[in-house]
Amino acid sequence: MPEVYNWHLGRKMLYPYEERHPKWQFAFVFNINRCLACQTCSMADKSTWLFSKGQEYMWWNNVETKPYGGYPQFYDVKITQLIEQVNPGGQVWNVRVGRKHHAPYGVFEGMTIFDAGAKVGQAAIGYIPTDQEWRFVNIYEDTPTSMRAIVEGIDKTGFTRDEPWRMTGSSLPEHETFFFYLQRICNHCTYPGCLAACPRKAIYKRPEDGIVLIDQNRCRGYKKCVEQCPYKKPMYRGTTRVSEKCIACYPRIEGKDPLTGGEPMETRCMSACVGKIRMQSLVRIGEDGLWAEDRWHPLYYTIRVEQVALPLYPQWGTEPNGYYIPPRWAPRGYNRQMFGPGVDNAIEK
Ligand code: SF4
Ligand code: SF4
Ligand code: SF4
Repeated sequence: MPEVYNWHLGRKMLYPYEERHPKWQFAFVFNINRCLACQTCSMADKSTWLFSKGQEYMWWNNVETKPYGGYPQFYDVKITQLIEQVNPGGQVWNVRVGRKHHAPYGVFEGMTIFDAGAKVGQAAIGYIPTDQEWRFVNIYEDTPTSMRAIVEGIDKTGFTRDEPWRMTGSSLPEHETFFFYLQRICNHCTYPGCLAACPRKAIYKRPEDGIVLIDQNRCRGYKKCVEQCPYKKPMYRGTTRVSEKCIACYPRIEGKDPLTGGEPMETRCMSACVGKIRMQSLVRIGEDGLWAEDRWHPLYYTIRVEQVALPLYPQWGTEPNGYYIPPRWAPRGYNRQMFGPGVDNAIEK
């Protein structure tokens, strides 16, 4: 299998296709601290793209309540467990290498979904959620829990002051009992699991803007993308028997929406956001596949200069192009497993 460079991991990794990069990449930042879970974004997406027969339970944009919620239910816990089974105890970061341009969060020494997939004879490790797991856009809405409860659920030896989240040296107040909202659309990944998985080669990444699309004519509904996207963003539609996913509102990005007379626009879910938590743009990609330096660009400044917005589950290895300003009140250990070791820098800034 070819090797490609993933700057989120700070290293090369296995991927079924040779490394190739678009000229520009669709990317976004969501500020978790400001979201009110009004689901206006979800409704903006649904009323634009998802109002037909067979799309009733489809939400390309959803806002879920962590730590219990998820659409589909427990997708992140399940993927994490699947990799852990293949690589027990090995999912660790080496942060001693320091922060460099090509390895801003250190080096991930564990297995990605592609590494773990190779062990089980698949392009990427994954599973297909049951119909029941897709029922709710925000199951367990506003349901808090404590790290104590989470850890005690796993480790019955009891709670002591030496528990890992107490050893972080964090200086900001953390809430031991917490929840927060996680806003999710397709990450238009640099190394998409969905694209790697598709036996029909029906999924492609556009060279002009890095948007990842499913060719509806080529797709035969094998659901391999549903199985092997770790973020569970492709969805199968029973009425047409093909899969669909977020299209990054590409007619608006291209300026083809009849409303604007040729002017490019933000996507529907971004522009409708009531809390003004979303920022979206195209970023320029250099020859080496890294973001070309552009310190005046709001996304470049937030993600690459200040590093206050971080990728979601970077350890999965798809190099997602969605970034999050992590919730300041959530326990640091919980934040770290979700956004990687860049969390401490992001929150302390
Ligand atoms: S988030 Fe999933 S569906 Fe979207 S590009 Fe990445 S792997 Fe594919
Ligand atoms: S970018 Fe467009 S297609 Fe994608 S979730 Fe948002 S509104 Fe839907
Ligand atoms: S519209 Fe904005 S504030 Fe409301 S749920 Fe969506 S991301 Fe959060």
